[in-house]
Amino acid sequence: MRPRKVPLRKCVACQEMMPKKELIRVVRTPEEQVLIDLTGKKSGRGAYLCGKQSCFKLARKSKALDRALKQPVSDDIYEQLEADFVKIEDEFIASKELMDEDE
Ligand SMILES: [Zn+2]
Repeated sequence: MRPRKVPLRKCVACQEMMPKKELIRVVRTPEEQVLIDLTGKKSGRGAYLCGKQSCFKLARKSKALDRALKQPVSDDIYEQLEADFVKIEDEFIASKELMDEDE
């Protein structure tokens, strides 16, 4: 087997480089909606956050998402993202553990 290249992306909050599958993608759609993209396939400008609530809070505080998405992200949107984030966190961690079993 040839070694596969793992695509790395940077978390916009803590600036750490991580494998793409370890990160949660936030996308700004062409309709200018900002939402979490679990599939990683939605079109639009994306920003990555590691799957940690602490990083999400940091992104909110430092407005890292606003900068990464080149669009002001309102408090309402941050509230919505945070609610979604908490909802998917368990699912996200579970899927990560599943993937780790292959290694
Ligand atoms: Zn991070």
